[in-house]
Amino acid sequence: MKKKINVLIIAAILGLIALSVIQGYLINNTYKLKKDAFISETRKSVSKIDDFSPALDSLTDFWRENFLEKLADYKIGVAKKNDVVDGLEFVIDSINDTYRKEYQKELVKKNIPYGIKFHKKVKAVIVLDSVQNDTLFDTLKAPKQIIIGDLIEEENAIRISTTSWETEHTSNRVINDVNQEVSFYLLFLTEDEIDIAGWKNIVFKQMLGLLLLSLLIFAFVIGLLYYSIKSLITQKKIADIKTDFVNNITHELKTPLATLTLATKMLKNDNVKQQHQLMDNTVSTIERQNKRLQKLIDQVLNNSLGYSEISLQKETIDIESYVNTVLDDFLLSVTNKNVTVNRTFNIEKQNITLDKFYTTTALLNILENAVKYNTEPVVISCSIESKNELKIKISDNGIGISEKNQKLIFEKFFRAGNKEVHDVKGLGLGLYYTNQIVKAHGGSIKLDSKPEKGSSFTLTIPFN
Ligand code: ADP
Repeated sequence: MKKKINVLIIAAILGLIALSVIQGYLINNTYKLKKDAFISETRKSVSKIDDFSPALDSLTDFWRENFLEKLADYKIGVAKKNDVVDGLEFVIDSINDTYRKEYQKELVKKNIPYGIKFHKKVKAVIVLDSVQNDTLFDTLKAPKQIIIGDLIEEENAIRISTTSWETEHTSNRVINDVNQEVSFYLLFLTEDEIDIAGWKNIVFKQMLGLLLLSLLIFAFVIGLLYYSIKSLITQKKIADIKTDFVNNITHELKTPLATLTLATKMLKNDNVKQQHQLMDNTVSTIERQNKRLQKLIDQVLNNSLGYSEISLQKETIDIESYVNTVLDDFLLSVTNKNVTVNRTFNIEKQNITLDKFYTTTALLNILENAVKYNTEPVVISCSIESKNELKIKISDNGIGISEKNQKLIFEKFFRAGNKEVHDVKGLGLGLYYTNQIVKAHGGSIKLDSKPEKGSSFTLTIPFN
């Protein structure tokens, strides 16, 4: 059964791990989908902003015109490659602030509720020729980038489009005092990139409901598993207790029944019938065993009572003479063993009100245990203090109780699992019942014990 529970716990843990992995995978996929949807929506809203804005359009025309004229100079050998690229950078720098402001104005018009940075990155500038193309700028080889718009950190840049500007341009130049046309084909490649401020937070917010729901479901499943396993362990404990109890009671019933069988057989014997003394002895043996059986049955029936079900018949007694009588009677019942009881009385209040019958049962349970869980000579100390409340302390020099078992000792059917206890008869009900009796009197029991040193039980009962 224990093995089965362990297998179940391991299976449950593995199941939970598998569930978390699947859930993590699904959440990650949802995150990617949401992110893609959000970016594509933003891309749709900002695409072509620069094409449809007259202000941005005229700024673009301005730098393009300027650049084409510089390129014409290059074509006739008046300017070098570097001059063209530097010139392009210079003209872009000169208009960049205005370009950025105009772009932001367009974004405001579009009512986009989050901050966006935008730029065009020049990828390549190539003069096309049927013989050999002339690359003026290539972003992969260039030491720095040419950018129109905002500065965006590379890891935050989201590419929204690549555009190519192909044009045929003709300019007039005076060469050797002759006015000539300079024509060329140009390929200008750019890449548009944006940076959306706090896009991770925006996507996270969109997923918050889903995340909370999955966390809740997860917590619910864990709770359910925890509850099921806990109930299973409790059920197993109850089943173990029941099995122990059945074993113990069978063990307890066997001896008196065997003696009764033997005694009845003897009564049938003619020899015994003729010997009065033997007959009397056999009958008292039957009587004793009968009483023992009755006591066992009573113990089982009574001990199922909780303290609230015990109805006390209180009477006022002289505490000193009452305890002395209980101890004397107890000593009479253990004459076959070497038992000494030391008594100490510290009495201020002599007359106490309590239920004599139940209190006697409670005290006898503790006294009997002091002998049962002990080796001879048994030395019991009983000290009574009657000042503000009644304190009865019974100590023994027995096998003692481990710290772990001290917490369980007053539970129904509990018996320590060690060999010394196993060899002694018992149902594990005595201390449970004692505790219920003391509780019914409004009192409490304290246990101090050390294995192999002995135990002491202190019963505290308030006056009234
Ligand atoms: P039972 O004696 O029938 O087993 P009890 O409820 O009286 O039931 O005691 C419960 C358990 O507590 C015992 O089985 C034993 O392990 C332990 N115990 C009780 N009293 C003592 C004691 N004086 N010394 C050592 N162990 C004790």
